[in-house]
Amino acid sequence: MNIDNLLEKALNENNKKQRNNLESISKFGKIAIMGGTFDPIHIAHLSIAEEIRERFNFNRVIFVPAGNPPHKDCSRITSSKHRYLMTVLATYTNPYFEVSSFEVEKEETTYTIDTVKAFKELYKDETEIYFVIGADTILELITWKDIDKLFKLCSFIGVPRPNIRLDKIKKEINKLNHKFKSRIYLSPVSQLQISSTDIRRRVKENKSIKYLLPESVENYIYKNKLYIKQNNLNG
Ligand code: ATP
Ligand code: MG
Repeated sequence: MNIDNLLEKALNENNKKQRNNLESISKFGKIAIMGGTFDPIHIAHLSIAEEIRERFNFNRVIFVPAGNPPHKDCSRITSSKHRYLMTVLATYTNPYFEVSSFEVEKEETTYTIDTVKAFKELYKDETEIYFVIGADTILELITWKDIDKLFKLCSFIGVPRPNIRLDKIKKEINKLNHKFKSRIYLSPVSQLQISSTDIRRRVKENKSIKYLLPESVENYIYKNKLYIKQNNLNG
């Protein structure tokens, strides 16, 4: 199937999953939100999401590509449309995964607090929300907008990441949980040394990116000539 047909199929599938999800809301106990720039989405994002889903018994994992993230220099990231479509392509075959366009549709800077509030409304308060983050993000949490309020709205599941010391992460989690009475849990996952920064660099240097991301996303990158220009290199 060519990439345009595949994309259409993936978008239809994602819409269908979103509709079913909304219809059966009352049956849903727990959802996980996986936020990120996804520039591009890769195998570590996907395998973490699936491992966490299974371990914590989530009814859904909702990927939320960031629109205009406050923590990144926007002139350097790929357009929201490409990042959203790559995320849809990467996830459509997993019935438990869906992609939300909530943040990418917004022109202004998006903050997680607003996204989680919107999900709370959408899913009524009956649904428990967990936000999944990697070790590097755990260390940045304290800088997030209205973090004290966010801790009241959702729990967090932190996962280790290669090259980030576990004791440092544990210390930060304990500190935050103590200070804010937050619920940040640390969960072991298979650690994969993959980052979007490295993938962007590899494309620029004409190196293989096979097996670092789904083949459909690899094809999308080449078809749309992403990451060839210098300004896409930094993370
Ligand atoms: P970049 O290099 O552009 O920052 P990234 O690979 O870090 O990209 P993001 O979209 O920034 O990907 O990450 C989304 C979320 O996934 C973050 O919480 C990040 O910590 C987590 N994450 C990404 N890659 C990994 C990995 N290999 N192991 C654990 N967590 C990861
Ligand atoms: Mg990152």
